[in-house]
Amino acid sequence: MQRGQRLKLTEDPHRRLNVLTNEWVLVSPHRATRPWQGEVAQVPRSAEPVYDPSCYLCPGNPRAGGARNPDYKSTFVFENDFAALKPDVRRDRIDVAEKGLLVAEAEPGICRVMCFSPRHDLTLATMPLAEIESVVKTWIGQFRELGADETIQHVQIFENRGAMMGASNPHPHCQIWATASIPEEPSKELIAQRAYMQAHKRCLLCDYVELEQAQNQRMVCGNEVFVAMVPFWAIWPFEILVCSRRHLGTIADLTPEEVSGLADILQRVTSTYDQVFGVPFPYSMGFHQSPTDGGDHSEWHFHSHFYPPLLRSATIRKFMVGFEMLGTPQRDITPEIAAEKLRDLANS
Ligand SMILES: [Zn+2]
Ligand SMILES: [Zn+2]
Ligand SMILES: [Zn+2]
Repeated sequence: MQRGQRLKLTEDPHRRLNVLTNEWVLVSPHRATRPWQGEVAQVPRSAEPVYDPSCYLCPGNPRAGGARNPDYKSTFVFENDFAALKPDVRRDRIDVAEKGLLVAEAEPGICRVMCFSPRHDLTLATMPLAEIESVVKTWIGQFRELGADETIQHVQIFENRGAMMGASNPHPHCQIWATASIPEEPSKELIAQRAYMQAHKRCLLCDYVELEQAQNQRMVCGNEVFVAMVPFWAIWPFEILVCSRRHLGTIADLTPEEVSGLADILQRVTSTYDQVFGVPFPYSMGFHQSPTDGGDHSEWHFHSHFYPPLLRSATIRKFMVGFEMLGTPQRDITPEIAAEKLRDLANS
């Protein structure tokens, strides 16, 4: 038997390898043979006001803790009033009885909040392109500044959108957490990218993007600088991976033209999402960039992940419970079918 001849990815239950993390996802396409059921929600878009006097992110408003926002006109960054990390924690490590069983390490870090716009009612999907470019430029400034800090080894920029993802405030904003250690997900991706680079003398994601383009089954949209696809190993129903076409490690490596390219792809992906169920699509998204630990990270390829929880409608979400919590994440609708749906919307 020739390998791969018997396995039908469109029909047979199988597991797929996430080459970035070396973890598997279970795919059960036979459970999703019913036709597309994505209903456009009955719930009308709740129109947010341009300015909300009770919003702690709107210009001029007071925040918890007593600070007051300036009358900002573009982006606005401040230290999180309820920061999960503090910069002034002394480095220390505990290993009770030196058995490696009760281990803890101090984790100094910095948590910031960044407003994308003074407008309470906008999102990345609805902001003008020039304003998203300002957002990208602010990200670059933050990444440079935080990454230059000697205690900081990794800068995580991420956005939670929608109450379903725990975002308590619709005001367009993201968070930036800079940490003294490399967090779990990028740690796994670092190991995988480094191993691939050592084995093949080539970049894992450069090769992956090339293969995805050749297969052309999971592409969603793209421009001259970035491509967006549902990755082969996607766990979330409409998960998207955005990769730069050029090999680069961080957002700070983008040329001015590429800054526009990133703004454009973010707008395309988020506005495509909003069309899936006719509601503002909830998601967690973030950039994975090379660590800022001073090492050589030629293996790292700049990319971002979008993890949206919605499954079949605006109100039905995927839960990671049961076998997924105790065993392996699982999905019914294949990444190929999700990509086809997203691609149709992106091109419509
Ligand atoms: Zn607001
Ligand atoms: Zn690359
Ligand atoms: Zn990643």
